[in-house]
This record gives sequence, C-alpha cells and structure tokens, in this order.
Amino acid sequence: MNPLKLARRIVSGRRAAQPAPAAPQPLSAASAYGGSVQVRHVDAGSCNGCEIEIAAAFGPVYDAERYGARLVASPRHADVVLVTGVVTHNMAEPLRRTVAATPRPRVVIALGDCACDGGVFGQGFGVRGVVADVTDVDLQIPGCPPEPDVIVETMRRVTGR
Ligand code: SF4
Repeated sequence: MNPLKLARRIVSGRRAAQPAPAAPQPLSAASAYGGSVQVRHVDAGSCNGCEIEIAAAFGPVYDAERYGARLVASPRHADVVLVTGVVTHNMAEPLRRTVAATPRPRVVIALGDCACDGGVFGQGFGVRGVVADVTDVDLQIPGCPPEPDVIVETMRRVTGR
C-alpha cells in the first residue's frame, strides 16, 4: 500500500488492513489445527529481505493474525516452523533441533528462493544446503523475497481460513 495512503487511513481512523481475498485451498493437515496455528520463525542464513516481508505479512496491513496465524517465540508452542535463508553450517544443527522440539503434527515451510533452492547464496562457502537438506519440508514459498500476500495465502492454507 502507498505509504501516504496508509498514513491518511491511520489519521482518519479507518481500517488499514487489506480486504480479505477468497480463501485458498486448505492443506490436508489444516483440519488438525482448528483454524489457528502458532508459527516459529527460524532464520537459517537469510539476508533479512525475507524477514522484512514476514514482518509486513504479520503487520496491520496484511494481518495474517486475522486468519489465525500467530508468531511465537518457542518451538514448543508452535505448529509451524517457517524457515528463511540458505542453511549455514552454524545453523544446520539449531534448525534440526528446533524442528525436533516442535510437537506433531507440524508443518515446515521453506520461505524464499534461498530456502527453497539456494537462490543467490546457494554456492556460498558457509552454506550447508537448502532447508530440505536438513529437515523435511511440507510447503515452499518461492520468491526473492516472496510478497506478503503470498505469505499470508500460505498461512491461510495451513489454518484453513
Ligand atoms: S530469498 Fe532473497 S530476500 Fe530472501 S534471504 Fe534469499 S536473497 Fe534474501
């Protein structure tokens, strides 16, 4: 949204959130979550471009929370592990442990080209591989970086809303 338009909406007190598009096809696992999922984000070696889009997806304009997706701090509380970046050597084991600490049924999402296929950093000297080289991946969100509405759409597939 145009920042000026957003500022005008805030000053006028009107709702800033984008209108809700039609619900996407839910993931088969969605029925297990009752319309609400907790999401643990792991940066495994991102440039932070994907993080900016995640912040926008969970912010007041795109507002993923209105569809039942919420970021949490602990994998023990999470249903979804959202992974960004190529996996560096230093982050391979922490990522594996984070996924292992997340109760089942869980969904692992690789977000961004780096996480999905290595993107622009895949051949770096400090890189162990892509997310699928370290843990099972259920969903991929390609893009460098993916746009917030695509991130929200994927979250809606998991919440089923
Ligand atoms: S996909 Fe693009 S924006 Fe995301 S971490 Fe890789 S280079 Fe950065």
